[in-house]
Amino acid sequence: LFLSFEGIDGSGKSTQARQLAAALRDLGRDVVLTREPGGSPGAEEIRALVLQGEPDRWSAETEILLFTAARRDHLERTIQPALARGAVVICDRFADSTRVYQGLSRGDLRDTVDQLHSLMIGREPDITVLIDMDPEVGLSRALSRKGSEERFEGFGADLQKAMRKGFLALAAAAPDRFRTIDGTGTAAEVAARLHARLPELFGP
Ligand code: C5P
Repeated sequence: LFLSFEGIDGSGKSTQARQLAAALRDLGRDVVLTREPGGSPGAEEIRALVLQGEPDRWSAETEILLFTAARRDHLERTIQPALARGAVVICDRFADSTRVYQGLSRGDLRDTVDQLHSLMIGREPDITVLIDMDPEVGLSRALSRKGSEERFEGFGADLQKAMRKGFLALAAAAPDRFRTIDGTGTAAEVAARLHARLPELFGP
């Protein structure tokens, strides 16, 4: 089973991904918790190239190529082997983040993202959890946490709003794959909502 977590910066998706992984391990499941950009040694190198450099070092198109290259390596080296042995793979961000961040934030490059995706990746997660969050709240959470070691989109509220809209539109277009969870409240409250929406993972 392949699950991804998506959401704007500060949505709490990484915390939820980690807690779900721990809960499933407690149930005796083999779980691989991974993240994008990154998730394999090569893809982590690409992450550093993209997120630690000057914000405008790469054009939007080059960035799409780099993220897709990272995803391809991550898929080959980490995700596919884990799925093949029957593990549950939980991935903090996957292609939907590229569709929204690279596809919408610097012009409309959705087609480019989708074409490269079908050429080089060719699969979606079985389930995508979208942690939906008010952009102002997400922004203040993210700003209070981010160190200076990585680029933070620094997204003003307007761009954060556009990213949220982009994620919600993806969810509306693929209702069978997405579970959209309200990300407000404590991590425990969000986790309870999540567990209620994923009964298939926790059994009867
Ligand atoms: O999810 P995480 O906090 O690790 O993401 C790191 C940074 O990379 C965030 O600022 C996010 O906005 C950015 N990002 C991006 N394009 C992606 C994925 C993440 O710009 N496809």
